[in-house]
Amino acid sequence: MNSFAIAIHGGAGTILRSSMTPEKETAYKKALEDAIVAGEGILVKGGRSIDAVEAAIRVLEDNSLFNAGKGAVFTNEGKHEMDASLMNGKDLTAGAVAGVQNIKNPVSLARAVMDKSEHVFMAGLGAQEFAKKVNAEFMPDDYFFVQLRYDQLQQAKQSDIMILDHTVDKDKKFGTVGCVALDLHGNMAAGTSTGGMTNKKHGRVGDTPIIGAGTYANNKTCAVSCTGHGEFFIRSVVAYDISCLMEYKGLSLKKACEIVVMDKLVKIGGEGGLIAIDAKGNIELPFNSEGMYRASKKSNSELYIGIYKD
Ligand code: ASP
Repeated sequence: MNSFAIAIHGGAGTILRSSMTPEKETAYKKALEDAIVAGEGILVKGGRSIDAVEAAIRVLEDNSLFNAGKGAVFTNEGKHEMDASLMNGKDLTAGAVAGVQNIKNPVSLARAVMDKSEHVFMAGLGAQEFAKKVNAEFMPDDYFFVQLRYDQLQQAKQSDIMILDHTVDKDKKFGTVGCVALDLHGNMAAGTSTGGMTNKKHGRVGDTPIIGAGTYANNKTCAVSCTGHGEFFIRSVVAYDISCLMEYKGLSLKKACEIVVMDKLVKIGGEGGLIAIDAKGNIELPFNSEGMYRASKKSNSELYIGIYKD
């Protein structure tokens, strides 16, 4: 009998047990579980992996605990510029948006680019106009405002660096979100959504919306969603590299993930992690940072939730 599997992440970074309160930990675990439940509800009924990925990411985008949609980090100018993408492993169709503002669910706008345009990737003002045409849901600036994130921007500006939002202050751990899934029909999909990095320059685009860097899915190999310092993930073409190591070198998902996350990325200073799934439903959740919010569920096993290095 075919089985399904799903994994999500809520960002990687300096996430230490010592700076977590029981209340915050409970809130994060509940948010991760809610997202898994949303995706699983689709998969269990024989729904498509791409729909499960979009549904799970929307739940995380709507939760201000994470740096995507509501609660996205601030740019240097004090704005929210969001990036998102998703990809179908069955036919390699994909959609992505970069630098969009006031969009409630950037992942669904990426989905609209895939389903309702002849393009793969739309950015900035053009993407905003496309959003109006497809009746995407817009929200006012204050919907996205989170005081802690604003404080992070002030801290980041003092040192004039761009930072992973989890690394600014050990008490503030938020992150990019992503999902990978395998459905009962054997099709895989991946998606990722983010506000990017605190104090990023206007127009900066990270790995998240770049197919092959932050997101990739191919039924022949795997589906991957990344989180971490985007510049390094772009330079390492992380998601596609994992797929290539499987396709051309015949490596297992586990081995491919180990090489890319624990060796190649580390060697160039790329902090972060990823979630990945293969056609057999094997799931890998590697990270080289202190922690990564993550959860997974297979049709025949219990829900797994992790935050720290176990
Ligand atoms: N990868 C994202 C970016 O660089 C940030 C993150 O994963 O938290 O935009």
